[in-house]
Amino acid sequence: MFIGHFAIGLAARKVAKLPSLAMLFIAVQFLDLIWPIFVLLGIEHLSIDPGNTAITPLNFEFYPYSHSLLMAVLWGLLLALVYWLFTKNKQGSWLLAGLVLSHWVLDLITHRPDLPITPFSEVKLGLGLWNYPSAAIVVEFAIFLLGAYWYFRAGNPPRKIAYWALIAFLLIVHVVNLTGPPPPSIAAVAWSANLMWIIVLWAWWVDRKKRAVPEQVT
Ligand SMILES: [Zn+2]
Repeated sequence: MFIGHFAIGLAARKVAKLPSLAMLFIAVQFLDLIWPIFVLLGIEHLSIDPGNTAITPLNFEFYPYSHSLLMAVLWGLLLALVYWLFTKNKQGSWLLAGLVLSHWVLDLITHRPDLPITPFSEVKLGLGLWNYPSAAIVVEFAIFLLGAYWYFRAGNPPRKIAYWALIAFLLIVHVVNLTGPPPPSIAAVAWSANLMWIIVLWAWWVDRKKRAVPEQVT
């Protein structure tokens, strides 16, 4: 799942004293933000295997440190703790921990059984929605568009055009991922996954209060 993760972050908007949109995006994509780093460091592996599931040519062979259930809980708690230390926002911190875990739950629905329970066990789970491309695509687009609309209504982002441009950009990236050829190499997968930080930066900018225009001095 790709844009579906963002949908959950967008839908979280209703909570009071909310972390910024950029923080929500970091939380929902936390596992996929650390994963390419682990891949580049050689700690986790994948291979390119067209047909692995109908949707993705990636075979997630070994990613227990970013994508096991136990680590998803621990990463969530760590992010929540760091956020709490800086903001003392308890509700927001628990929300972030839950959003980190939501990534694992959505991956559980879409991946074939490749998600470990802990880094120390052989048990791997996955319900395999990705083997049913039409259902997978409809579900993901639907929750993303709902989340996008929900955030716009409830959150009233200060930069509306930048917000809808970000939503359009995510949709385009998703369509390109779905229709494009398999990636040329593992390094290409890992490096392009790091581009997710652009989306985080963009979200930060969308959410930033516009400064009042200073009075003109003549
Ligand atoms: Zn993931």
